[in-house]
Amino acid sequence: MQKTVDFIKETFKTQEFIPLHEPRFIGNEKKYLNDCIDSTFVSSVGKYVDTFEKEFAKTVGSKFAIATVNGTAALHISLLLADVKKDDEVITQPLTFIATCNAISYIGAKPIFVDVDLDTMGLSPDSLKNFLETNCEVVENICINKTTNRQIKACVPMHTFGHPCRIEEIKDICDIWNITLVEDAAESLGSFYKNRHTGTFGKVGAFSFNGNKIITSGGGGVIITDDESLAKRAKHITTTAKIPHPYEYVHDETAYNYRLPNINAALLVAQLEQLEKFLASKRELAKIYKEFFLQNSIKFIEEPENSKSNYWLQAVLLEDVKQRDEFLEFTNKNGVMTRPIWKLMNELEMYKDCQKTDLKNAKYLEERVVNIPSSVRLPI
Ligand SMILES: *Cc1c(COP(=O)(O)O)cnc(C)c1O
Repeated sequence: MQKTVDFIKETFKTQEFIPLHEPRFIGNEKKYLNDCIDSTFVSSVGKYVDTFEKEFAKTVGSKFAIATVNGTAALHISLLLADVKKDDEVITQPLTFIATCNAISYIGAKPIFVDVDLDTMGLSPDSLKNFLETNCEVVENICINKTTNRQIKACVPMHTFGHPCRIEEIKDICDIWNITLVEDAAESLGSFYKNRHTGTFGKVGAFSFNGNKIITSGGGGVIITDDESLAKRAKHITTTAKIPHPYEYVHDETAYNYRLPNINAALLVAQLEQLEKFLASKRELAKIYKEFFLQNSIKFIEEPENSKSNYWLQAVLLEDVKQRDEFLEFTNKNGVMTRPIWKLMNELEMYKDCQKTDLKNAKYLEERVVNIPSSVRLPI
């Protein structure tokens, strides 16, 4: 394990503490921020929000993009766009960041957990299909969960650490069962499944620009969709449902203040300009890690088949809980930050009574997967 610590320090060319993932501000960030401050338009409206939305939509290949204050807000609104309501049910994976479940819960809907695939770490189409065939029926175009008598409105797969899940198969299953597909693409900007960008398979997709994501605006998020009416609705309800008017305040429903401030958008426009460079650096790091861990009999997690991953957070798969804990302890004690994958959502107090399938793959990964330093290396 000393060898691993030495190698990571050598790879990042420092003997100092190596964080898991730090942002890089090496482009036009300061220039755009200064310009934004000088313009005084730092808040709810401004050209950077518009520029970002246009550029982001172009980058991922969607028709519309609506910037939000963070990724959780983007997910919350995405679920509302999918018509999820109180007491509806939403299928998702147990191996995810808490935000996925928080967004479902904000609406008063309930998550159902289906297992993940071992290679993608994302929602398993086989597990999904099996769950639906065992528990559900479509009645008058509505997917009913026979065990609870509630409607399953949406399915939210997540592309774990940027590795695309089997999203095409998942989409096909959702179509058959009349379930709306909403992608939690928070971690997968720059990741493609069969040459199509993640987040564009679902009716709606959500991304995050939190400080640890591949590009950041401090805090921020975005919703993407090809549906013009949904895009309009997303803009409306993320901006307090205010009817556009030069001076009057008229709002036509209870809505949200989820817009991205222009000053954050200024930072984000500069970050997005560097995405290709960041991606190249991360793929190079993945190659370096792969070679090293291969020689040292530790399994490095690679992009699954049919996909191109952004390698946002690099990860290894250890033998068992014991080896994982030793690895975590040793690396963190020696200045190399590492972190275990999330605890399963169904094991948290709030979600322990939720319906679930056999989650053996999720459990297997939970006990073994560890993230290792993944920042873009300097200089690039
Ligand atoms: C980061 C992240 C989000 C959104 O997080 P915010 O901090 O609200 O931007 C949602 N889902 C997943 C899986 C994430 O990793």
